[in-house]
Amino acid sequence: MDFDFIIVGCGIAGSVLSDHLASHGAKVLIIDEPRLSNSSRVAGGLYNPITGRKMVKTWNADALFSYLEPYYRDLERRLGTNFCHSKPIYRPFRSIEELNEWMGKSAYKEYDSFVAQVSDKPLFDDHINDEHGGLLLKGCGYVDTTEFLDAFLKNLPDGVTLKTEEFDFSKLSIRNDSIQYNGILGDKIIFCDGQLLGKNPLFNWLPLKPVKGELLFIRVDEPIDVIYNRGVFVIPLGDGLCKVGSTYDHNNLNDIVTEEGKLELTNRLEELVKFQFEIVDQKAGVRPATLDRKPFIGMHPTEHNVGVFNGFGTKGVSLVPYFASQFVNSMTKRSNLDEDVNISRYFSLY
Ligand SMILES: Cc1cc2nc3c(=O)[nH]c(=O)nc-3n(C[C@H](O)[C@H](O)[C@H](O)COP(=O)(O)OP(=O)(O)OC[C@H]3O[C@@H](n4cnc5c(N)ncnc54)[C@H](O)[C@@H]3O)c2cc1C
Repeated sequence: MDFDFIIVGCGIAGSVLSDHLASHGAKVLIIDEPRLSNSSRVAGGLYNPITGRKMVKTWNADALFSYLEPYYRDLERRLGTNFCHSKPIYRPFRSIEELNEWMGKSAYKEYDSFVAQVSDKPLFDDHINDEHGGLLLKGCGYVDTTEFLDAFLKNLPDGVTLKTEEFDFSKLSIRNDSIQYNGILGDKIIFCDGQLLGKNPLFNWLPLKPVKGELLFIRVDEPIDVIYNRGVFVIPLGDGLCKVGSTYDHNNLNDIVTEEGKLELTNRLEELVKFQFEIVDQKAGVRPATLDRKPFIGMHPTEHNVGVFNGFGTKGVSLVPYFASQFVNSMTKRSNLDEDVNISRYFSLY
């Protein structure tokens, strides 16, 4: 066998899964053509335990968040770079009712590890509109996904090889005991092909629901030390540069930036912030989201050596490390995949 695993795609999913496989001693070949989909490179990179308009604790937060920072820190050490930035997130309250709700919720133990402060007074009114106070979160931050992927590709873990080319399904032959791809012999093949899963003949039956997103880069004169998040996120990247995102568009699934996207983000930003800003760049990408907002993980219903690790939607940065570990453990029979993420929940669609 040339490789234990062939991994198709090297966004956050393919890179982190390959790293977990290699750390279990597997020999891995990654096949990736980065120009096909740029979601991971465009991502805001936030890992945020309290999400959505209703500000609820994100699904599986305790398991995901206790795994992700230690994992990214270890990877930073191994890659010799710094891409994981712990930073508080501040979510101003929209109303007195919301403030009161959080005053009550913060007494619950389940919020201990994520809530730094529930403030009934403005904490950052130099910068933003927070007349009802707000929620200051801890255990959160952002991953500079471009820095991470560049460092990963430059310093591939031992046992990982990269081939930069488009995967050609007509060259794949699946046998009972192995995979053959263009003369290369592998034990298993796992698809981490992001939103292109919809064009993957082996997995296009899974209910992917891709969402385009746009974000802006702005320049500000203010020294910002926290991530502001209400309607839009504003991530301070240093040197007066901030990332602002993002939009959600289920119809135009391409990575072309639009005037509508810019206008929507600018309007939402103006509702949140008081400071002046200059737009210096704009980016767009397509998130591999799914119908039930849970990832697609597991082995094909009939091809036991073909798998998928995809569907990380709007939260790849926080979901991928924990589930990469769980997927590898399930393949080595140490533990089972959560039913919520296992593609067996959709076998009836195959
Ligand atoms: C605007 C925007 C903002 C976002 N903000 C956040 C955020 O703040 N926090 C967060 O956690 N997530 C965020 N996301 C979501 C996050 O980007 C995704 O969850 C994540 O990037 C998905 O990673 P992936 O590896 O599955 O897919 P991708 O990044 O799309 O990677 C797939 C890779 O496979 C390659 N590929 C596909 N098919 C083939 C083939 N046939 N042959 C060879 N190569 C192939 C692609 O070119 C690509 O390199 C955001 C996304 C967008 C668009």
